[in-house]
Amino acid sequence: MKLVNKVAVVTGASKGIGASIAKHLAAEGASVVVNYASSKAGADKVVAEITAQGGKAIAVQGDVSKKADIDQLFAATKEAYGKLDILVNNAGVYEFSPLEAINEEHFHKQFNLNVLGLLLTTQEAVKLIGAEGGSIINISSVVSTYTPPGSAVYSGTKAALDALTKVLSKELGARQIRVNAINPGMVETEGTSSAGITEGEFRQQVESQTPLGRIGQPQDIATAAVFLASSDSSWVTGETFFISGGLR
Ligand code: NAP
Repeated sequence: MKLVNKVAVVTGASKGIGASIAKHLAAEGASVVVNYASSKAGADKVVAEITAQGGKAIAVQGDVSKKADIDQLFAATKEAYGKLDILVNNAGVYEFSPLEAINEEHFHKQFNLNVLGLLLTTQEAVKLIGAEGGSIINISSVVSTYTPPGSAVYSGTKAALDALTKVLSKELGARQIRVNAINPGMVETEGTSSAGITEGEFRQQVESQTPLGRIGQPQDIATAAVFLASSDSSWVTGETFFISGGLR
């Protein structure tokens, strides 16, 4: 097991990509804080699945676009496990809108969580990471370079995330804290299914442009997160990993 004695926080881990990452980190021996915003049942299920396999996990509620909730999340982490080694900034929202329909709410909802919340979460996390260093993994998206029409704000948040990943890798490298991004292609999750984009014309279009010919599953992303969390990637920082079946 690659993550024995490590402590990880995964934001937005009650479903989708975050839930799969939480389970994969725990399977490698990490103690995992399963953060969620509103789906207590989903988070409790992830914790139950981890503990049933002999792993360690707790569920902690907190809206990671809000500073007070972020502070509570890391206070709960410190109380439960005393330290932090791995942060996965996964919580994110995606909404599509053509230019003429963009408004302040659409902008702030996505930038407040995907960018500001991620920065404030990282700020608190590094206070709990010890002298041996750690790994921060930001879940970006292929949209930061694929840039589909109607995604100006969402793609903007993920392009910002790619840039701040590189900036923070330079700021935190001296403390042996590595900062990398994973840029998934379209992945079948509760979020994308309920948005109706994993079926029909949009899916067909994406799959026809994807060299490996299919959309992704959460575990396609989680295995990459294990690599970035573990010492297998100990000389890797400031990178953006496109895990997308080759879609750019
Ligand atoms: P999802 O199925 O919609 O799940 C979202 C998760 O984030 C849930 O656990 C949700 O918790 C949590 N969350 C939402 N708002 C939150 C907040 N303010 N504070 C804390 N947690 C919050 O999402 P997904 O499809 O797995 O996507 C996860 C990440 O991958 C996002 O950053 C997304 O941009 C990125 N991504 C996804 C795809 C894709 O195709 N799925 C592709 C590229 C990138 P509750 O259930 O409690 O609300």
